[in-house]
Amino acid sequence: MADLLTLENHLIGEVWTSVDIYRHLETLCDLGSRFGGTLSEMQAREFLFQQFKKYGLSGVHLEDFDFLSWQRGECRLKTLSPSEREIPAIALVYSPSTTEPGLEAYLIDVGAGSDGDYQAQLAHLPEGIAMAHSGPDRKGRWLHRREKYGLAVSSGARAFIFVNHQPGMLLQTGSLRMGQMAPIPAVGIAFEQGAWLSREARQHPVRLRLEMHTSHKPARTAHVIGEVPGNPGDEVILVGAHYDGHDISQGAMDNAAGIALVLELARIFAPLQGQLRRTIRFVCFAVEELGVLGSTEYVKAHQDDLENLALMLNFDSGVGAGQRGFDCNGFGEIARLCTLFSKEMRYPLQCTERISTAADNFPFLMAGIPNANQTAQVNPRDLSRGWGHTVADTLDKVNEQELRESAMVAARILLRCANHAEKLGQRRSMEEVRTLLIEQNLKSSLIIQDKWPFSQ
Ligand SMILES: [Zn+2]
Repeated sequence: MADLLTLENHLIGEVWTSVDIYRHLETLCDLGSRFGGTLSEMQAREFLFQQFKKYGLSGVHLEDFDFLSWQRGECRLKTLSPSEREIPAIALVYSPSTTEPGLEAYLIDVGAGSDGDYQAQLAHLPEGIAMAHSGPDRKGRWLHRREKYGLAVSSGARAFIFVNHQPGMLLQTGSLRMGQMAPIPAVGIAFEQGAWLSREARQHPVRLRLEMHTSHKPARTAHVIGEVPGNPGDEVILVGAHYDGHDISQGAMDNAAGIALVLELARIFAPLQGQLRRTIRFVCFAVEELGVLGSTEYVKAHQDDLENLALMLNFDSGVGAGQRGFDCNGFGEIARLCTLFSKEMRYPLQCTERISTAADNFPFLMAGIPNANQTAQVNPRDLSRGWGHTVADTLDKVNEQELRESAMVAARILLRCANHAEKLGQRRSMEEVRTLLIEQNLKSSLIIQDKWPFSQ
């Protein structure tokens, strides 16, 4: 076994001198959106498969599964009174079509779309179209889009409008339900249009008309998997990222950059077969954007070999200008390990226990597996998604040096995890997972999104 420093110097040198990582990002963005069920998704999968083969990873294969694909059609939103005006709008993923001849109802502004916001308008909602923005509520809490939509559904609203809380005339997309058709139509509109509608609604009733066509059909997709075997019989570290994006965009930051980073790790670690304590399994997950479907399927299909999974490291939208770090999803011992490595490397990392419930780490968390998401923001909450889920999530938003730095940090951490002499983390029981989620106040949010598997 080569010593850590020699290996680390080699890996860092590879990341800093190779031009592959940004070339791969360009290739993925040039293919197109890679949205589930599209040609570009299939081409991205083939590209990743060939790269894994080329690097000489062990056991390169695809694992396929069924899912429900969804396609957008025409979408028209307009005000009927007090004046007629067209509002640019796009359907949110898994929105149903409106029934003929379209849907007419009054606009109900529910602000940030928190429970309290909906309660305040409860009397009007059954006759209305609920409009919520993507920003935080008055208490500074960030609710997920699926949660705001869930509250619209449970309060009886006829449709849902999701306003981007960031200026710039950008419309935000995203899924409404996980892998299934949602009950009421929903559209995204720009901050500026939302601000105008809010102001109008404060002065007089605003009547809206929504006409929208979408379609859906059963489809099949697959993860791309390959390994760098460690010592036989030893534990596995899973390195994952999702390769799909949203249909309106290149999905450069979310998540072509994460996949380019994972490809880079696969490239530089591939020659280390048999030299590390733990096996590294690279997984390019399918259809995350449709509601974390791929990783959910993966965990379901791998129940029998989860026992030797020591850690899941997820790379999703974690490239940016801010300080690098890892959100360790309630696993204190992983956060402490992150801090230990950070000190050892004299390289500042933000190591938190914050839990992410809407990314590919989540199914692993629910199975009690130690897991962490790479981050790269000064304050990840300031900008929320930024360009993500809009048409502007394009290649130009990803800086080559920042991508390299994230890959370098990831390589150093992965190497340390793969060779750490002691146990990395402790698998949690279902009861312990439940406690972790409750401690971080996630219960009500998960219930409304239909993601709370416990009886209470
Ligand atoms: Zn993502």
